[in-house]
Amino acid sequence: MRDDNCIFCKIANGDIPTNAIYEDDKYKVILDLGPATRGHALILPKYHFANIYEMPAENVAEAFSLAKRMAEEMTDRLGADGFNIVQNNNEVAGQTVFHFHIHLIPRYKGDGQTVGWKPGESTPEELSKIRELFQKSSS
Ligand code: 5GP
Ligand code: ZN
Repeated sequence: MRDDNCIFCKIANGDIPTNAIYEDDKYKVILDLGPATRGHALILPKYHFANIYEMPAENVAEAFSLAKRMAEEMTDRLGADGFNIVQNNNEVAGQTVFHFHIHLIPRYKGDGQTVGWKPGESTPEELSKIRELFQKSSS
C-alpha cells in the first residue's frame, strides 16, 4: 500500500515531520510548503495511489468527503470568505507529486490569488461533437 520512494507516503505515515492540521487512521491533512493562500492544505491518504485514475472510487469518495468536512472547519477557524478544492492528475494538469492528494485552498477577499483557467471559446458544432463521444452505442 505504500511506495518507499514516495515523499507523500513518508509524510503521511510520519517518517518525515510536517505541520498536520488533521489526522486519522487513513488520512493526514498537512499545510502546503508553498501555500497559495493562508492555510492552504493538502489531504494525503496514508496509502499510495499515484492519481485519481488508479485510486478506487470508494477511496476517492472518502477523500472528497473529508475535503467537505475540512472546507467547513478551515473556513470557520481561519475566517475564510470562500474555498477552492483542487485535485491535479498527471503532469499536463499540473501534478508535481505523484501521490494522490487534494488541495484545500481557503480564499480571502482581496487575496490576489488565481486558481483556475482562462475561458476559451466554443461553437455549437464542437460542443455537439463532444457530447456524441458520451452517447452509448446501442449494439
Ligand atoms: P501538485 O502540483 O502535485 O498538485 O501539488 C503538490 C503540492 O505539494 C505543491 O503545492 C507543493 O507546494 C506541495 N509540496 C511539495 N513537497 C512538499 C513537502 O515536502 N511538504 C509539504 N508540506 N508540501 C509539499
Ligand atoms: Zn505515496
